[in-house]
Amino acid sequence: MDTRRAAGHAGAPEDVVADTEARLAALRADDVLRIPLLLLLARELLRVDAARSMACAVEAERLGDLHDDAPGRFAARDARAMALLFRSDFDDAQHLIEDLAQEASPARPDEVARCRVLRGILLQRRGDLPKALNAAFSALQALDGASGRTWVAGTVHNLIGNLLVLYGDVSGALEHYVEAVESFEPHSLQGVIVVSNNVGMAHHEVGQYDAAIEAFRRVLTALPTGGQAYFRAVALCNLGLALVEAGRSAEAFVPLDEARAICAAIGSQRGLGLAHHNLARAHHRVGDLAAAAEHYDRSLAVRAAAAEGQDHAETLLFAAELEHDLGHGDAAIALLERVLETTAAAPSTRLRSQAHHALYRVHRARGDLAAALDHHVAYHDASKDFVDDRTRQRQQALAIRFEVHRLAAQNERERVRRDRFERLSNTDELTGLPNRRAVDQTLAQELREARALERSVCVAVLDIDRFKDVNDAFSHAVGDAVLRAFGALLPARLRSGDTVGRYGGEEFVVVFPGAPLEAARGTCERLRSAIASYDWARLHPGLAVTASFGVATLAPGESVVEWVARADAALYRAKAAGRDRVVVDVLASAAG
Ligand code: GH3
Ligand code: MG
Ligand code: MG
Repeated sequence: MDTRRAAGHAGAPEDVVADTEARLAALRADDVLRIPLLLLLARELLRVDAARSMACAVEAERLGDLHDDAPGRFAARDARAMALLFRSDFDDAQHLIEDLAQEASPARPDEVARCRVLRGILLQRRGDLPKALNAAFSALQALDGASGRTWVAGTVHNLIGNLLVLYGDVSGALEHYVEAVESFEPHSLQGVIVVSNNVGMAHHEVGQYDAAIEAFRRVLTALPTGGQAYFRAVALCNLGLALVEAGRSAEAFVPLDEARAICAAIGSQRGLGLAHHNLARAHHRVGDLAAAAEHYDRSLAVRAAAAEGQDHAETLLFAAELEHDLGHGDAAIALLERVLETTAAAPSTRLRSQAHHALYRVHRARGDLAAALDHHVAYHDASKDFVDDRTRQRQQALAIRFEVHRLAAQNERERVRRDRFERLSNTDELTGLPNRRAVDQTLAQELREARALERSVCVAVLDIDRFKDVNDAFSHAVGDAVLRAFGALLPARLRSGDTVGRYGGEEFVVVFPGAPLEAARGTCERLRSAIASYDWARLHPGLAVTASFGVATLAPGESVVEWVARADAALYRAKAAGRDRVVVDVLASAAG
């Protein structure tokens, strides 16, 4: 028996939701482990049941407070803002987003970027596209330099894509959707599905119905069987409409019927409104006007209740078209007047222009030429407004994108300069190896890690034997060539975790993280032998080079200086014992 549904949670019979709820039920009410589960649930339920999604976010926020978990609390408030946006509760959303922007830690670019994404979504919902696009691009900038393929980056690129589609820049949108999919891929199947669906909508928008059909079919194959019911329904709805527009209405009924059944089962009013709207259009297209009328009525009933103004007006427009086709001029006019009413305050000049055009046609068909003329003039004005709006928006979008590219190029130049400076200040010019500064940093870092992980770490000091004689006998230039040869020879014979640097003059230091003394000694022995058997005569006839090594393992409680000094002392003994050899630190080897 499905107790969850019996308990009145018919909103989301998906496996993820059920699993997460079961895991939550097994935890104590104030367990900190509830936070990630609640956040997952909030995200899963967002599009299906925004009220429950909100309740999860609120509980996660309370637990974040209780446990002083700042990132958890931030994510919870982020989820609450999303739920408010999905409930079209824009004023509350705005306050929360402003608070969040205050709380976002500058040290966490993800948080800064998420605040800007939320602001962008809010502005988009309020119809201020230029500011929305600005917010979205500034989110992208916040992520600049942060590690690439994150969930947040996916949300940023998806938003930019959605906005560019609204601006009519579909090819620009597709570039960002590709980035979004790649960012979401390792983190969120739901993210990938949302973006793939948006790709289909973008194609649809510009009349590329075959590409749209293909995209929606891809969404359907990507969906796990049995899960993500809401997304399956949306993809089926979109597939159905694309088939209708592509002139393949007969094929649209199967996906649309399935979508309607799913939405009814999960109680999604949004989905149901869409499914009936699309079913009506399919029936209308194949000439089954009675069935079309029934589906328009159902869609209108659901959409009126859900207070989705724009969608409702859209359905009114098509339903009016149907009444006109049925010869019901009065009914068509009544519906179209309602479109004009509901869009009077809304920014959609497109719907208004379509409504006036339809009214012009209906009045003309009825012979009311005066009314027809009025609406034709109004249609002309509205479509001019619409075109002007579009043109202005496109110019603004171009200006914003230009500015963003300029800033990105500037950031990139600064990063290159910083990287180069960083490299120069850490690299020895002659050998290309890390310099003393870098080696000291590595030693300090490895000492900390060894202590933290309770593992061993060894250091070797290596000094070229009688190097002064090399300079004297063969010239300083040959001496430099020898040092350069060491720069290639040494790192090539080390494991990837080991580090070698030039410590000064003809002295090098090797760090062996995690290596016991015996292993480090073995590696040094191999290095020594490689140096001694290297074909030095290639550099200059008669040239031969050897080196001596001192090795020490880190002892408890000692500093980097003390540790390296013991390796140095061992090196001194190697020199004293005749050079071209490896000596390990006596104390440690006796103790070990
Ligand atoms: P030992 O086996 O005892 O180490 O003898 P050594 O001659 O190598 O030791 P010493 O410290 O007396 O001499 C080091 C020489 O290394 C002195 C210096 O001229 C040379 N040297 C240091 N840095 C460079 C460099 O960058 N290029 C060249 N060509 N020689 C350098
Ligand atoms: Mg020396
Ligand atoms: Mg020397």
